Amino acid sequence: MNERTFAGTGATPRKGTGTVIWYRPDAALANGNEIETVPSSDRSAEHDRFETAQEQAQNELETERDRTVERVGEEEASVFDAHIQFLHDPQIDDSVHTEIDEGIPAEHAVQEAFTDPIAQFEEMDGRMAERADDLRDVRDRLVRLLTGGKRLNLAELPRGTVVLAERLTPSDTAQLDPNRVAGFATITGGRTSHAAIFARSLALPAVVGIGSELATVDDGASVIVDGEAGEIIAEPSDERVAAVETETDIEAIHDGVATTDGTEIEIAANIGRPAELSAAVEQGADGVGLYRTEFLFLDREAPPSEREQYKTYVEALETFPDGRVVVRTLDIGGDKQIPYLDLPSEANPFLGERGIRRSLGSDSELFETQLRALLRAAADADGGTLCVMFPLVSTVNELDTALDRVDAVRKSLEAEGVDFAVPELGVMIETPSAVFNADEFAARIDFLSIGTNDLAQYVMAAARENEHVAHLHDPLHPPILWSINRSIEAAHDNDAWIGMCGEMAGNPDLTELLVGLGLDELSMSAVTIPEVKANVSTTDQTRARDVAARTLIVNTRSDVANIIKDQ
Ligand code: PEP
Ligand code: MG
Repeated sequence: MNERTFAGTGATPRKGTGTVIWYRPDAALANGNEIETVPSSDRSAEHDRFETAQEQAQNELETERDRTVERVGEEEASVFDAHIQFLHDPQIDDSVHTEIDEGIPAEHAVQEAFTDPIAQFEEMDGRMAERADDLRDVRDRLVRLLTGGKRLNLAELPRGTVVLAERLTPSDTAQLDPNRVAGFATITGGRTSHAAIFARSLALPAVVGIGSELATVDDGASVIVDGEAGEIIAEPSDERVAAVETETDIEAIHDGVATTDGTEIEIAANIGRPAELSAAVEQGADGVGLYRTEFLFLDREAPPSEREQYKTYVEALETFPDGRVVVRTLDIGGDKQIPYLDLPSEANPFLGERGIRRSLGSDSELFETQLRALLRAAADADGGTLCVMFPLVSTVNELDTALDRVDAVRKSLEAEGVDFAVPELGVMIETPSAVFNADEFAARIDFLSIGTNDLAQYVMAAARENEHVAHLHDPLHPPILWSINRSIEAAHDNDAWIGMCGEMAGNPDLTELLVGLGLDELSMSAVTIPEVKANVSTTDQTRARDVAARTLIVNTRSDVANIIKDQ
């Protein structure tokens, strides 16, 4: 049998191999014109059937929520509360009952009532579009309960199963047991879909967005899921399977690491929710280098209060009593939408009201609440050094205004007699203007952190989520390396420290280059920490500086790549 490779988007940089089981949860319902109308005398029984299915769905969702709290974490489990809300959505509920009154059987009435709301979410951008998956999940659950359909029990799959599916909903993914499932791949989905986020939290090999050709892989086929390369290989050769099976995880290093000549490099974790702290500790993170606090604002009805945020930040600091925790203030806009904040619809959201622009404008109250929680946490936490950084800063004025806001919060806490401490303050380097302003920034604050995901998209004018320009959105293009180099020099000339928290930092093939360029800290998703730490400890700083210097004098991406490969 010949190997066949299917390309998609890697969700977790892990590989797994096993046997395919297709997951097809959608209960097959007859087409509209084949539906038999329910006589009026039986319609009240149909209403009862629907209500019973609603109750059963509620019970199932509560059980799955509890299981998710245990396996993944409190924050991830909150998606089930959204499902419970959809289950009782008054508009959908009314539509189902109206359809039943017209003689439509309950399962078809459900199918029909969810159609428009799903289509409405599908038309929206970014995360709102993913809510359509949540609605489908609720619809399919009700249809299954109404038709007595059986679902593949995802929680008890045979060991070594690779799950293939059109799409996996949050509840599906949360049921997967990483000790039994070797990985999954889906036809639809992107890196920010819930399935991908859960896969990363579970460190489960996963590839999403493969497209309809995935359907040509049959049940029972042998496959490799390569989340690193973003592909799956059907019917792989025995040698290839053996290579994946013998690939052992690199052991986590729980102490700080230094190059062979003694330069200490801090290796920290990027996290978005409290539940990810334990994985960061397990993988040997020295601290948190990027806490994406906007994740604390998602999948809920209202922003977290000052008290809730305070507790979250204290928890992070106390998890790393000897380390640093870099909290980024709210970074919404662009592809990160929060329904209850009523973000404006913009023609170019990535060039619009994002990050600090919103915090200094329409979200200034949220910004103040967040700063209060942070300054209080810095004083009260038992250990840990708090660093606070601002996202998407382009001008010196923006930074000065943000620093003024910190000062105003400090004064008001002082006047109220509330304990506080001013954390280290920093700025993300994500825009070309921030690179040009890096000297001015570094003179005012304690640290800079380079966000290569956005920096690459703005330097190269290539959207980070558009696969057609992915070749341009690549941090090895010389103008990006020059931007990084210039920022590092600006930081060090002004006695500030500088880290990198974009995806580039977690690429183990680039550790030597990044150390050679002079970064003091690298922050990445927890799964890549062991390999990067191991690489730092075998890096020779003199050689690394030489590699970096050589990459800075060439003009093409391929020349840069060749220099790195030759090492
Ligand atoms: C970045 O832009 O590199 C970054 C780390 O921020 P985010 O990916 O959250 O935009
Ligand atoms: Mg960014």
